Amino acid sequence: MRFEDLRQRLVAELCLLGINSEPVLAAFAKIPRELYILPQYMEYAYSNQPLPIDAGQTISQPMMIAIMLEQLALEDQHHVLEIGTGSGYQTALLSELAKDVCSIERIESLSLKAQKVLKSENIKNVYFRIGDGYQGWQKAYPPYKSFDRIIVSAGAPAIPKGLTNQLADGGIMVIPVGYHSPQILTKIIRKGDELLISKHGACAFVPMIEDGE
Ligand code: SAH
Repeated sequence: MRFEDLRQRLVAELCLLGINSEPVLAAFAKIPRELYILPQYMEYAYSNQPLPIDAGQTISQPMMIAIMLEQLALEDQHHVLEIGTGSGYQTALLSELAKDVCSIERIESLSLKAQKVLKSENIKNVYFRIGDGYQGWQKAYPPYKSFDRIIVSAGAPAIPKGLTNQLADGGIMVIPVGYHSPQILTKIIRKGDELLISKHGACAFVPMIEDGE
């Protein structure tokens, strides 16, 4: 089967598994996952599972990404912060669903590889940073102090304050909480000074590492 057909089949599978959001499904129908995985896993490019990438990390399971994207309820005008660029696959999906994406990855080789793929795909609304994402976006450009949406792709022992501080009023953040797998997928909504926290089941992510930058 061609990648194009496999991609459509994955979208149908996500739909069957309960993903309803049209824009989320359209993003999955558009972004070629085969560009973000290692050559030896090509036959699994569109199976609904996580796969190893370089540096002992993983490209997330499509269904897990879909659940998180759906929970974010992304809109065209949103500024998004992503912690854990990894392969860049989720970054590319986010770039379809929001105005722009600021993506932080602590492993240089992964970030550089992801930057190369997104550039070759002509994706222009993503800003990359190599470093520790615990404190959020500490970069001169773009000079965003807060984000409408924040998505964390690694398991954090607790909800990082540096990240909730950068969540805009009315903003939504999703993050796996718990250092060891399984973590609890946690959603945080900021209402003024208040954080509304809800739990959404178990999930399995690589740990979020604090470099103490
Ligand atoms: N969504 C990505 C997931 C990659 S795995 C994908 O599908 O490819 C999670 C990534 O988070 C890893 O690449 C890991 O290096 C990165 N990471 C872990 N802790 C981090 C931190 N404190 N700051 C930035 N990136 C971090």
